[in-house]
Amino acid sequence: MAGFNVRSILVTGANRGIGLELVKQLLEKSNPPEWVFATCRDPEGERAQQLKNLVSRHPNVVIIALDATDPASIKAAAARVEEHLKGSGLNLLINNAGIARKNTLESETLEGMSLVYTTNVIGPLLVSQAFLPLLKKAAQGSNQKGLSCSKAAIVNMSSGAGSIQNVFIWHVGQAIAYRCSKAALNMLTKCQSLGYGGDGILSVAVHPGWVQTDMGNTATFTAPLTVDASVRGILNVLQTLSEKDNGAFVSWEGKVVPW
Ligand code: NDP
Repeated sequence: MAGFNVRSILVTGANRGIGLELVKQLLEKSNPPEWVFATCRDPEGERAQQLKNLVSRHPNVVIIALDATDPASIKAAAARVEEHLKGSGLNLLINNAGIARKNTLESETLEGMSLVYTTNVIGPLLVSQAFLPLLKKAAQGSNQKGLSCSKAAIVNMSSGAGSIQNVFIWHVGQAIAYRCSKAALNMLTKCQSLGYGGDGILSVAVHPGWVQTDMGNTATFTAPLTVDASVRGILNVLQTLSEKDNGAFVSWEGKVVPW
C-alpha cells in the first residue's frame, strides 16, 4: 500500500463492522495517516469501546460524534475536524455508515423507507456537503496531477444490492428500502463526480462484498467474506483509483459493478 499516501481520512460509522476495520487497517499501514477521524453516533457509549481502545494506542485517531441523520451533528463534526486540521484539508472522506431493514415489497413502510433513505442517501449527501470545503482545500494544497484518494476523494460505501442489473442476493432478502437507497447512493456518487471532479475531488461508489458484520450475517447464515479480507481489498483498490475512475462503481476486488 506504499502508493496510498493519505494525510487525513474520515470514516463514518467507524465503531463497528467495515468502518472499524477500515480504521484499524489504516493505522497498521507502514505510513499511517497523520489524522484518522473515526466518527460514530455515540462516542461516550459502550458501542464505541473498541474505538476508544484504539485511541489509547494511536494518538493519530480522533473520535468524533456524527449522526448521519442529523444535520446539526454533521456540521458540528465538520467544525471539529477543521479545528484539528489547523488549516490543512481533508484528503479522504469515506461515507460508510449505513443501515438495512429486512422488509419486503409487502411489508415495506413509509417509516422504513424514510429512515433507510435518510441514513444511506441523505446522510452521505449532507456529510459530503459539510466536508466539501476541507476536501477542496486538500485538492488545492496538493501538487498531484489528476484525481486520486491520496489527493481528495469521496468514497461512498454502496452495495451490489443496489445494482439494478445484478440485484445482488435477492434470494436472501428483498430489503426494498436498502436496495433502492444504494441505487440512489450510486446516482449521488455519479452526480458528485460530475459536480466535484473539476475541484480536484474524486468520487466513487464501492461494493465491499458480502461481509461478516452485524449487517452482513443473518441469524442462519454467515456471510462469505471476512471483514479483514473485504477491507484489505477496498484499501488496495482505493490506492489504484485515478481520474478514469471518477464516478465509477467498483467492488472490493477492483471490478466495475454494473449499475
Ligand atoms: P454494520 O451494521 O456492521 O455497521 C454499520 C455502521 O453504521 C455502525 O457503525 C453504525 O453505528 C453506523 N450507523 C448506522 N446508522 C448511522 C447513523 N445514522 N449515523 C452514523 N452512523 C450510523 O454494517 P457494515 O459494517 O456491514 O456496513 C458498512 C457499510 O457497508 C454500509 O453502508 C453497508 O450498507 C455497506 N455494505 C455492507 C455489506 C455487508 O455484507 N456487510 C454489503 C454491502 C454493503 P451504530 O453502532 O451506532 O449503529
